[in-house]
Amino acid sequence: MNAPLNIAMPKEASQAPKAYKLLIDGKHVEARDGRTIERASPGHGFVVSRYAEAGAAEVEAAMQAAHKAFETGPWPRMKASDRAAVLLKAADLIETRLEEIARLDALESGKPIAQARGEIGGAIDIWRYAASLARTLHGESYANLGDDMLGVVLREPIGVVSIITPWNFPFLIVSQKLPFALAAGCTAVVKPSEMTSASTFVLGDILLEAGLPAGVVNILAGFGADVGAPMVSHPLVEMVSFTGSTRVGKTTMATASNSLKKVSMELGGKNGQIVFPDADLEAAADAAVFGGFFNAGECCNAGSRLIVHEAIADDFLAAVKTLSQKVRVGDPLDDRTKVGAMISVDHMEKVAGYVTAAKTDGGNVFTGGARLASNAGQYLDPTIIRNVTEDMAIAREEVFGPVLSVLTFETIEKALHIANNTPYGLSAGVWSASIDTCMSVARSVRSGTVWVNTFMEGYPELPFGGYKQSGLGRELGKRAVEDYTEEKTIQFHR
Ligand code: NAD
Repeated sequence: MNAPLNIAMPKEASQAPKAYKLLIDGKHVEARDGRTIERASPGHGFVVSRYAEAGAAEVEAAMQAAHKAFETGPWPRMKASDRAAVLLKAADLIETRLEEIARLDALESGKPIAQARGEIGGAIDIWRYAASLARTLHGESYANLGDDMLGVVLREPIGVVSIITPWNFPFLIVSQKLPFALAAGCTAVVKPSEMTSASTFVLGDILLEAGLPAGVVNILAGFGADVGAPMVSHPLVEMVSFTGSTRVGKTTMATASNSLKKVSMELGGKNGQIVFPDADLEAAADAAVFGGFFNAGECCNAGSRLIVHEAIADDFLAAVKTLSQKVRVGDPLDDRTKVGAMISVDHMEKVAGYVTAAKTDGGNVFTGGARLASNAGQYLDPTIIRNVTEDMAIAREEVFGPVLSVLTFETIEKALHIANNTPYGLSAGVWSASIDTCMSVARSVRSGTVWVNTFMEGYPELPFGGYKQSGLGRELGKRAVEDYTEEKTIQFHR
């Protein structure tokens, strides 16, 4: 039995929880009924934040504010260069508050602080990229329709957008949506996860300081049923941009369809990394551990299925096991930590339940598998399960924890079959020195992203999203702003 983790209490533990008010029409407001949500740090166990909890009245007020800002405010009407200037200023302000934001995300989500810093750095890059797209967004013109006709296709902002985000990358995911909606000239109502809302509220303050007019961005803390659902059905909303589970994504899309709202869906994943014998096995082993345990596996892109060629399985997995046992699990606020706390006790139990079920189904826990004893917070040991077969729940369902399932193959056809044998299609990885092999896998895997001899890298320039039940639409990339627009055709006759 390992010694219990010794989690040091940070300075925040002896302070009053930070309080956050809702942001509606440029003002910070309490909920009308005075309700609040308390968030305890999953890594330490003390209440770190208290948010005003929105209800129906606040959803209505936020919608009215966003609608007014869209219909009569300056934001959709101003020059793109002026909108870009606000986004660039926001990026600069995020940079000056990077440490504060990273700490909030680490405290509320349990992710390692060093990783959180990297995410905020990535978010800054995205805000700057979106600013560049604001200025290059353009429509089309057609002078080939006859001498008396000119066709012009405008790209207009779509209107009020509801943005709903999950808890696993609190600041990064809102930054994959909001700057593009703003670049297009839209207004928004944003609902972060009820567990990790603090950094989104900080973002709201930053946007006001950067010069965003009142009402353009409204931020509500609250639960899915009370706040998320009415944000999806509200008649003033034209588009819903949702990131979260496939289960809630389906409900959200069904609700949005009642009023034919546009949807953008970034949902779950069950991603495979396929390792061939001719690969750089050292790099592949590093990527297996990184892919499996990054963000404690609470990651849509987690490489949760390791699909290894039989010929190298024993040696390769021995190397992966050694590396995984060196992964430093512990205090999210410790710079050296690689795997932090699990988001909630319920979620940890769910993940542990998958491990138990895998054992019953014939899986073999090769390393890890246990809850780690600690003086505070909730932590799981990075876990690898061998002898997994395609029919097992652990091979099919999104576990969302630090659990790597190993499946093996002898032919490329079998590897592809395993990789594609899931309702999800978010991402995949392939490791081989053969360009033929890499090309075959990259072309045949049904997923929105395929990493070849690398894993889980992301760039604002590259579109991201899922095939199959991993989502609908793409975020990032040069068309990201277009997603938040309508096309209007104007025909000029003389
Ligand atoms: P979730 O679906 O439980 O919640 C996501 C958001 O939806 C939260 O803000 C929640 O309050 C809200 N919500 C819940 N019920 C709602 C309803 N009925 N109507 C409207 N909103 C509602 O997901 P989660 O547990 O917060 O996040 C984990 C999931 O997110 C995983 O499945 C993960 O794969 C997915 N995810 C996907 C991506 C991607 O880019 N594809 C990125 C990160 C996370």
